[in-house]
Amino acid sequence: MVEIKKQLAAKGYRLTKPRQEIFASLDHEPQSVLQIIEKLKKKNIKIDKVTVYRTLASFVELKLIEETQFKNKISVYELADHQHHHHVQCEKCGKIEDICLDEKLLIQAAKKNSSFQIKSHHLEFFGLCKKCH
Ligand SMILES: [Zn+2]
Ligand SMILES: [Zn+2]
Ligand SMILES: [Zn+2]
Repeated sequence: MVEIKKQLAAKGYRLTKPRQEIFASLDHEPQSVLQIIEKLKKKNIKIDKVTVYRTLASFVELKLIEETQFKNKISVYELADHQHHHHVQCEKCGKIEDICLDEKLLIQAAKKNSSFQIKSHHLEFFGLCKKCH
């Protein structure tokens, strides 16, 4: 919490109570805005949707969290303090899991086969989770 306070302050944001609560409800598991609001509700914290969206957007800007969008166009958010990875989403229930890949060859191939200076990439997997298959 001290770290995020510093980072927010550096960008001119105050660590308000809602921001603090929203940050505390984030995890390394990707969550949608609705899931975050549900989590807050369970703790008896009421923060309106607009505030949650705005707060998450500023956290993304500060690179405190990462936003991923899946096929259904719903954004999910997770803490950004761990290594680069990808996700697999269940096509039936929407559950999301992290996948760590050795992608050196893939990135090399992308660089080789394109005239662009490759900076980032977006790669998502889809399938059925343990419960659904
Ligand atoms: Zn990757
Ligand atoms: Zn599933
Ligand atoms: Zn993840």
